[in-house]
Amino acid sequence: MKPTSAAIVTVGSELVTGLLVDTNTAEISLALARAAILVDEAVSVPDDSDLVSATLARLIANVDLVVVTGGLGPTHDDITRQAAARALGVRTTRDRDIEAGLNQWVKRHGDPRAASQVLSQADVIEGARVLPAVKGTAPGLVVPTPRGSLILLPGPPREMRPMLETLSREWGDESEPPAILRCTGTTESDVQLAAQDVLGGRHDIALTVLAAPGDVRVVLFDRGAGAGTLREVSEQVARAIGRACYSTDGSSLAETVLRLARVRGERLATAESCTGGLVAGALTAVPGASDVYVGGVVAYSDDVKTSLLSVPSDVIARHGAVSEETARAMAEGVLAACGADRSVSVTGVAGPGGGTDDKPVGTVWFAVSGPEGTVAEMRSFPGDREVVRIRSVAVALDLVRRSIEGE
Ligand code: AMP
Ligand code: MG
Repeated sequence: MKPTSAAIVTVGSELVTGLLVDTNTAEISLALARAAILVDEAVSVPDDSDLVSATLARLIANVDLVVVTGGLGPTHDDITRQAAARALGVRTTRDRDIEAGLNQWVKRHGDPRAASQVLSQADVIEGARVLPAVKGTAPGLVVPTPRGSLILLPGPPREMRPMLETLSREWGDESEPPAILRCTGTTESDVQLAAQDVLGGRHDIALTVLAAPGDVRVVLFDRGAGAGTLREVSEQVARAIGRACYSTDGSSLAETVLRLARVRGERLATAESCTGGLVAGALTAVPGASDVYVGGVVAYSDDVKTSLLSVPSDVIARHGAVSEETARAMAEGVLAACGADRSVSVTGVAGPGGGTDDKPVGTVWFAVSGPEGTVAEMRSFPGDREVVRIRSVAVALDLVRRSIEGE
């Protein structure tokens, strides 16, 4: 029977003390969503046997499918297997085959004192099916419950993932992956309204809008529309949003810029002050960037702006390092220095210090230099240093995109 309700439980004290961000829940949720299994609840529980057992008992009674990660390993705080057995009111038995494999592992790698704890990973909950460990040593378990099943997976994402892939194949691919439109230079509300105008009252596509500094995503979920309609509607939404929408296949702004430049055979360069190389970092994070991106200069001090980017020192003296004139000279300087076809520069006041009345914190000048000449733009960003820098990266890349597209 296909589960119609599901819960995800992540076990680990590190997850509830803020030492580690839970990424397993997101991966499992996505896998369940592909199988059109809706998640009712996701919860993190510390390594406390009573708490884990009580949480599992409650969820097993209320939802069809309970997926648990963490606490299956060989250390003293790995209590999930026993806690789950307790919640189900069943015993565990030692699986001799798994034990033999673990014994080999102890002989080759392990501290012999840890043997008994390592071997505890061979304890299988009565009635369970074993998911063999592809990475690491802890096997996963699928235990039937009165409503469906309880699945125990290891905590380390690289160990959990192969088992999740096996389960995903069993759950089946029932829904289209969502269409993801990516936008920048717009607001959450604007894209949401544009998308809702297109969607009207239809119930076969669900809309979610996610926003972060410089990055707005419109996610359209298939709720019965089918692949063709989902694609058509997502293209309509993209048109309604307009130029702020730069991709309809989920690709990032850096990927989009590189693709556009590649198509035109253009080579790109960067000159960065307040972003300290983050624009270069975003471009070079994309595999295969080297055929488009030639390089750049982090010109943080006035001296480096002058010596490496040929920004005239009197321009900086007269207009300041954060000015239209300096931004233009930086873009033109790096274009020549790198022998590129198009360049972008960023110079601004990221804060918290350094602001003045006429150039407060958040004032950032950008320039793009290319075959059509040089254009400059100023932005005033609200927010702290981190936000100003992140937004600056998005604007710098977006100005390159728009200049290649010819705006
Ligand atoms: P465990 O299986 O509980 O021994 O988990 C071992 C390690 O896996 C932890 O120290 C984390 O590094 C990682 N881990 C456990 N749970 C999660 C989770 N929910 N998300 C991301 N990493 C996790
Ligand atoms: Mg743990």
